[in-house]
Amino acid sequence: MAKRVRISLANKCQILFGSAVLLIITAALSVGWVRMSTLVFEGQQETARKLANAWLNGKIELGAAIQSVDEAVAPDGIDQDLTLTLIRKDEFDYASRDPFLDAAIERFQTRNDRNESFTEARDPSGKPYYRYARAIRRSDLSRIRGGLAAGFSPTVDSTAIADPLEMVLLLQHRAQMAQQQLLLNRISIVAAGLIAVLLAIALFWAITTFLILSPVRLLRRTAQKISEGDLRTRAEVNTGDEFQELSNAFNHMVETLKASQDQLRGTNKSLDLKLDELAQSNVSLYEANKMKGEFLANVSHELRTPLNSIIGFAEVLQETLRERTGPVDEKRKRYISNIILSSRQLLEMINDLLDLAKIEAGRMDLHIAPLSVSDSLEGLLNLMRPQAGKRNISLQLKVPPNLPVVQTDAGKFQQVLFNFLANAIKFTPEGGTVTLWAKAEPTVAPGGAASIPVTHIRVAVTDTGPGIPVSMHEKVFEKFTQLDQTHTRESGGAGLGLAISKELAKLLQGSIELESQPGNGATFSLLVPLTHSSKAVPLMPDPVEA
Ligand code: ADP
Repeated sequence: MAKRVRISLANKCQILFGSAVLLIITAALSVGWVRMSTLVFEGQQETARKLANAWLNGKIELGAAIQSVDEAVAPDGIDQDLTLTLIRKDEFDYASRDPFLDAAIERFQTRNDRNESFTEARDPSGKPYYRYARAIRRSDLSRIRGGLAAGFSPTVDSTAIADPLEMVLLLQHRAQMAQQQLLLNRISIVAAGLIAVLLAIALFWAITTFLILSPVRLLRRTAQKISEGDLRTRAEVNTGDEFQELSNAFNHMVETLKASQDQLRGTNKSLDLKLDELAQSNVSLYEANKMKGEFLANVSHELRTPLNSIIGFAEVLQETLRERTGPVDEKRKRYISNIILSSRQLLEMINDLLDLAKIEAGRMDLHIAPLSVSDSLEGLLNLMRPQAGKRNISLQLKVPPNLPVVQTDAGKFQQVLFNFLANAIKFTPEGGTVTLWAKAEPTVAPGGAASIPVTHIRVAVTDTGPGIPVSMHEKVFEKFTQLDQTHTRESGGAGLGLAISKELAKLLQGSIELESQPGNGATFSLLVPLTHSSKAVPLMPDPVEA
C-alpha cells in the first residue's frame, strides 16, 4: 500500500492560504492588465482616426512620409514614425496581398457602415507599430478635399453601389511612447502583485500561527500528556473564542474521565476483596466437599462390612435349606432369596456411592497399562451372558480385527462398559438384542486450529430397548436421575451408574456420547484416546488456583 504523505495542519494552512492568495491576486491584477492593454490600443486607434480626419480635411500638415502601395504592403513594415498611403480603387487588387488590407477592403466593400480598421502589427525586428485603414467613399469625396489635393482623383464607376468605395487611406505609426508606458505599467502591475502576495502570505502566516495553530498545538500537547496517563494536566486556552470553549469541554472531559477512573479503582478494590472472599469460600467449599466424600467413603465402608456378613450368612442359610431332605418350607426359601437379592442391591448402591465419593474427593487412582480392547470386550460379554440369558436377550460382539492396543485404566474402562451393558440388558424388553461394538476413530484435537489428528477408540453398546427422548440426553448423566421408576423397583439401581461413568470417562481423558430416539433403542459410546497422558484430570478445581 502506498505510504500516505503526512502534512501538518500548519503546513496545510500555509500551502492552501498561499495558493488561494496567489490565485486571487493574479485574477484581480489580470483584469487591470487586460484593461490597460485595451486602453492603449483604443487610444492609439483614436489618435490614428483623428490624424486621418485632420489630414483628409486638409486641416493639418502631418509631416508624414508618403508611401506608395508597394512600400506599404512590403513585409518590412515601416521605417518612419508615421507613414501615409492612399490606395486607389485600381490598386485594391495589389493591396490585397497584405492580409490586413485585404480584410479591410473586403469589409469596406461589403458594408457601407464599416469605414475603418485598426490593428497592432510587428515589424521583422519585433518592434510593434499600429496600422489604421480608413474607407473613402464617393460621398466623402466632395467633403474631403484637403488631403486629396495632393493630386489623387476618383475614378467614376457607373455600376457602383449606393456609396461605393473609392479609396483606402492607410496610416501606420510606431507610438514608442505608448509602448514604453505599457511596459512600465505592466512591470508595476507585476511588482504590485508580488508585494501583495508576499504581504498577504505573511499576514496569513501570522494569523494562522497565532490565532489558530497555537491553541490547537496547546490542545494537542495536553491530549498527549493525558494519553500518557497524566490526568492532572489541563488545557489553558484563554482566547475567548471557540478554542476556549473547546478547551473547556476538553478539560471537563478529563475531569469526568478522572472521576470514572477513580470510581473504577474503587470498584476494582472491592472486586479484589470479593474475589478474596470467593477464593476463601471456594477453599472452604472444597474442604467441605472433601470431608463429605471422606465421610461417605468411611460410612459406606462401615456399611459394606455388615452387609457382606448378611449376604454371606443368608447364602449359608440358603445352602443349608437346599441340602435339607424332606419337605421344603417354600416361604422360608423365598424370604432368604429376598434377603440375598435386596442385600446385593444395597451393596451395589453402596459401591456406587463409594465410587462417586472417591471420584469427587479426588481419591480415585488410575493404573494406566496397555489393554487389548477386543479381549477385554469378550471377557465383559461372557460376564453379562447369564444376566442376558435370564431375560432371553441376545448378546452380540462386533469388533474389527487389528484393533490397536489402548493405554488406559482397564478397571475403569470396563466399569463404564459394564454400566452400559447392565443398563442395556435391564431396559431392553425380553427377546431383544444388545450389541457391543468397537472401532478406531481419528478425531480432531480440541481447539481445532492445529487440526492434529488424534486416534481414539470408540466402544459402544447398542440396544433395541425403548430409547431415550432427546430432551433427556443431558439429564440421564446427572446423579439420581431415572426416566422410569418401575424398572428400578424391579431390577434395582439408584440413577448413579451413568453419572459415575461420565466421571470415569473424564478420568480416562475420554468422553461419553449418547445417540437415541424414543422407540428406536439407544447407543451409549465411550470414546478414549489411544494414549493417556498419565496426569489425571482433577475433578475439583485446585484450591490454590481458585
Ligand atoms: P440406573 O441405576 O437407574 O440404571 P443410570 O444412571 O445407569 O441409573 O441410568 C439413569 C437412567 O437412564 C435410567 O434410570 C434409565 O431411565 C435411563 N437409561 C440408561 N440406560 C438406558 C438404556 N439403555 N435404555 C433406556 N434408558 C436408559
